[in-house]
Amino acid sequence: MTGFVSLVGGGPGDPGLLTLAGRDRLERCNVVVYDRLIDPALLDFAPKTAERIFAGKSPQSKALSQNEINALLVQKGLAGKRVVRLKGGDPFVFGRGGEEAMALAKAGVPFEVVPGITSAIAAPAYAGVPVTHRGIASSFAVVTGHEDEDKPDATVDWRRMATAVDTIVVLMGAAALAGVSRALVEGGRAPETPAVTVEWGTTTRQRSVTATVETISDAVREAGLRNPLLTVIGGVASLREHIAWFENRPLFGKRVLITRTRSQASALSELLRQEGAVPIELPALELQPVATDAELEAMTQSLLARRYDWCLFTSTNAVEHVTAYLDRTGRDARAFAGCKLVALGSATASTLASNGLRADLVASEFSSAGLVQAMPLDIGGQHVLLPRAEGGVDIGKELHAVKGAIIHNVTLYRSDVPSSVDPETQALIRAGEIDVATFASSSSVHNLARLLGPDFEAVRRTTIACIGPVTAATAREHGLEVTIEPSTHTVPALVDALKAHYGAQA
Ligand code: SAH
Repeated sequence: MTGFVSLVGGGPGDPGLLTLAGRDRLERCNVVVYDRLIDPALLDFAPKTAERIFAGKSPQSKALSQNEINALLVQKGLAGKRVVRLKGGDPFVFGRGGEEAMALAKAGVPFEVVPGITSAIAAPAYAGVPVTHRGIASSFAVVTGHEDEDKPDATVDWRRMATAVDTIVVLMGAAALAGVSRALVEGGRAPETPAVTVEWGTTTRQRSVTATVETISDAVREAGLRNPLLTVIGGVASLREHIAWFENRPLFGKRVLITRTRSQASALSELLRQEGAVPIELPALELQPVATDAELEAMTQSLLARRYDWCLFTSTNAVEHVTAYLDRTGRDARAFAGCKLVALGSATASTLASNGLRADLVASEFSSAGLVQAMPLDIGGQHVLLPRAEGGVDIGKELHAVKGAIIHNVTLYRSDVPSSVDPETQALIRAGEIDVATFASSSSVHNLARLLGPDFEAVRRTTIACIGPVTAATAREHGLEVTIEPSTHTVPALVDALKAHYGAQA
């Protein structure tokens, strides 16, 4: 049986710029062969079981030669694999994808090409430079400078290029930039033509430098820009001044520490990334299951027998634990048919919703008092299921005392201090390279202090953002000065508060 090879363009850097077709092929592959500039987030789309083969240069290994890569693709294809050859940008724009396609065609391995967004247009776009613009540029060329040597690529006719097209985008030009500029000016391009060089375009590491074709190479050297970078030469480069948008975002390039559990961190990370920030995850909490299957089964039997009038979810974790058990044992949302659902906080309500459950009541207050307040007055003698975490505020006790409800506690999990911290993240914190530290619970503050030991001192020097007043109070007890606290206590509100904080500073 013969396999199938997809030559997939991974886009210019921002993982969001992968195409739907590219993502689809990744999700269904058994082998992925990728290059140096590929963001690891793209590889996460491939199944865990897929073989991942790095084809670029790394400290551990030397790069595979183009012939070796071609042979590898043919071999995997003939072995019946579904292969994704994942390349930066577009596979056919200086990606040597053509050579790979030729090798596959020659060997009779079926293949396809999934184009990608090339850095040649995307990096300028993220730097605020349209490659064409009415009245300024009606043509553009994408050319190679030269990867290694200090002279422009001899196969490009620089003199004719200089005046033949309006916008010139030079890829692989770090070393040869001075030579390229000289050749263009000698070819008749005006020395004062605007130029922009973009490093790591479309990523949160993006940096840009603006100059003229004559001075750009010095400007790039002074700013210390390195590969991957490209240079746009032409009148359009002057538009950057008006339409630069990406690097101007309030959170652009800010390193934001996230102390939530690994699974909870992702939503916050994603929102931050969309704002151009660099999320740095350091889980200060780890959830350990407490309830045994027997206890969960007993709870489920009672639900099915309609013994509870209410079920009260105080966190997204609680929803996830309970629904995961139901799912694992072949049950579904109908288990809750007999009771009303209460959610503490909108995030808990939306986790319920994503499990096909609509909360009858959502307490917006991020406090147990608010929740007790929100419950109807006449629940005296009614049965309330309370699946919860070990420790923390005992809402059930209050609900019983104030409203006379009968509480059925099920302790689902306990949050522990993780056994270790990623040393690289700790080093970043110690070096003062974190801009903001975020906390979404009191225990994340306590635990981070324990985990970092003396390095917690460095956290005191960063900007501190807390999701709500309870967490903020704990942070202050630990000597942190809390400057960011959203008025609604949700993750999106926290991100908005961060934006407002930095927007106001700019
Ligand atoms: N197939 C790729 C180009 C591969 S050649 C594409 O379509 O984008 C590699 C060169 O592309 C680099 O030397 C650099 O000049 C450019 N490049 C790739 N990614 C880039 C990025 N994020 N920012 C700036 N230049 C980039």
